Amino acid sequence: MNIILLGPPGAGKGTQARLLVEDRNMVQLSTGDMLREARSSGTEMGKKVAAVMDAGNLVTDEIVIGLIREKLEAGGDHGGFIFDGFPRTLAQADALGNLLEEEGQALDAVVEMQVDDDELVSRITARSTCANCGEVYNDLTKPIPADGVCTSCGKKAEFKRRADDNEESLKTRLLAYYKQTSPLLGYYYAKGDLKTVNGLGEIGEVAGAIKSALA
Ligand code: AMP
Repeated sequence: MNIILLGPPGAGKGTQARLLVEDRNMVQLSTGDMLREARSSGTEMGKKVAAVMDAGNLVTDEIVIGLIREKLEAGGDHGGFIFDGFPRTLAQADALGNLLEEEGQALDAVVEMQVDDDELVSRITARSTCANCGEVYNDLTKPIPADGVCTSCGKKAEFKRRADDNEESLKTRLLAYYKQTSPLLGYYYAKGDLKTVNGLGEIGEVAGAIKSALA
């Protein structure tokens, strides 16, 4: 099964993708994670996208489509792909459709995670992640453990805040979402692929809603 998790920054796409990976042996393809990795390993592409990402703008379609193409072509034995943070433009959505077709695969569902803007701002400005495994923490609802040991990977870890998780970049990221990404809702609705879930509430509740939407 191949699915897209669609929603604004802070909707919980990454958190839910990690659960789907555990439960269904799926593979998470997060273009945001791939781009951050390119930055931290200092590749030419990583250097090129750094300022764009920190400001909260979208990097070019060409770059992210190239990243996804590589992963799809690599194939592998697993329960399918979860596209997390991709596609974000109509051009990316068209490209994904073509890439899947070339690989003899199909898109099974697009799950929209709805969360209102006030909640997104409060989630994102309080967010940090385990540098070792990527587990997400929140100052208000799931604080970093006092002993510095990540509850997910069990290792003593550094907990990092993303450079773009600040109010200024978030405004730009939300604008990019509404302007460039939200047209995908209509695009996938028209294809009959769109399922909408309420992204508010406990992580387990949202996971349950996604499970029902995929049943
Ligand atoms: P994310 O981790 O999904 O919030 O992505 C972080 C940043 O990476 C975004 O604000 C963009 O600058 C860039 N990015 C991630 N995925 C895409 C994409 N599909 N298209 C364009 N830019 C992206």
